[in-house]
Amino acid sequence: EHNIGYRLQFNSALGSYKGGLRFDVTVNEDILKFLGFEQIFKNALTGLPLGGGKGGSDFNPKGRSDSEIRSFCWVFMVEMYHYIGIEVDVPAGDMGVGGREIGYMMGMYKELTHRSEGAMTGKDPLICESFCRTAATGHGAVYFARAMLRESGKTLAGLRCVVSGSGNVAEHTARKLVSEGAVVLTLSDRTGYLYKEAGLTTGDIDAIIAHKDTDANLDTIAISGATFTVGKPWQAVVADGYFPCATQNEIDVADAKAIAKHAVLVVEGANMPLSNEAVAVLHDAHIPHAPGKASNAGGVAVSGLEMAQNAAHYPWSADEVEAKLIAIMENIHELCRIEGGTDWGIDYVGGANIAGAKRVLAAMKVLGW
Ligand code: NDP
Repeated sequence: EHNIGYRLQFNSALGSYKGGLRFDVTVNEDILKFLGFEQIFKNALTGLPLGGGKGGSDFNPKGRSDSEIRSFCWVFMVEMYHYIGIEVDVPAGDMGVGGREIGYMMGMYKELTHRSEGAMTGKDPLICESFCRTAATGHGAVYFARAMLRESGKTLAGLRCVVSGSGNVAEHTARKLVSEGAVVLTLSDRTGYLYKEAGLTTGDIDAIIAHKDTDANLDTIAISGATFTVGKPWQAVVADGYFPCATQNEIDVADAKAIAKHAVLVVEGANMPLSNEAVAVLHDAHIPHAPGKASNAGGVAVSGLEMAQNAAHYPWSADEVEAKLIAIMENIHELCRIEGGTDWGIDYVGGANIAGAKRVLAAMKVLGW
């Protein structure tokens, strides 16, 4: 079997190249280029010394044994290790790449380099992960939503939310929303979505994630009080908060028009889940809409904190990391408010673009680039 592997290094003005690795059949150079380009500005918004990059492969991890996954991760690292390193490029996970895959890749990195350094983030706690990295993207998105709601005197309590996806970001967004008193109406995958009028409980989410961990789809799980529907939830489910956490372009114009009729806010957990035209629909309807480069920056932010802990050879407590994550998300919200203020409210998309670009361009100017 042949697969193509990529590592795209975009901009290192602010620090080492940094961005996830994606293993999915849909991966191609174009997708990784837009993800890597966006990553530059997302990483700048965190305020940490991180450049921007991205990578991955069209390898399909679904239905593979641990041994097959390990073989692929090792082969991938045999090629990639020439280009990465603690002060060069520090990859992390993304779709299809979690703690298991990062562990196998780090194993081969150590074999090849004889160096025990944090050349990747998202590692298992036994090999110096930062606490909270696994949940950081989802938690960060919810902290960002909390800051957005505060602008209009609202809270997450009772907010009825559509969440898409049932992977890492969707799981931790849903769990955090439930813990904050919000009502999570849906989770989804490529086959369709589960809808529960009374809201998914933590026990329901446990069952759904355990089911997905067996590589099964949502059309084959029974959750009490929930129904499964083929397709996407956006036009069918009326809610206050919409959290697309699956993949790019999952919301088109027709979906955005339906969302704009009811939404209090739209918060991207995934990267660029709205088409450009769908973004314009929400903008014209003055719906507060957080782009992924702002609202899902919690993942890379905690990766940056993991790099700091690895460099100091000293782990921080979970509470310490979570407190720093909250501070970073609040600061990103503040940057969006400063750069994106309009007479109708905060233009989060414009604000995040301007704030991120300003920091990168200022650094490039200092370097004479
Ligand atoms: P996972 O692989 O853990 O989960 C992806 C989820 O999205 C799965 O439930 C998958 O369904 C679903 N999905 C994928 N493609 C489609 C599709 N075409 N239609 C419907 N559902 C789909 O990935 P992550 O949760 O890690 O990543 C999700 C998004 O968040 C991506 O855009 C990623 O780039 C972004 N992101 C992730 C970060 C992280 O820390 N992991 C950080 C910042 C952004 P199925 O099971 O059927 O494949």
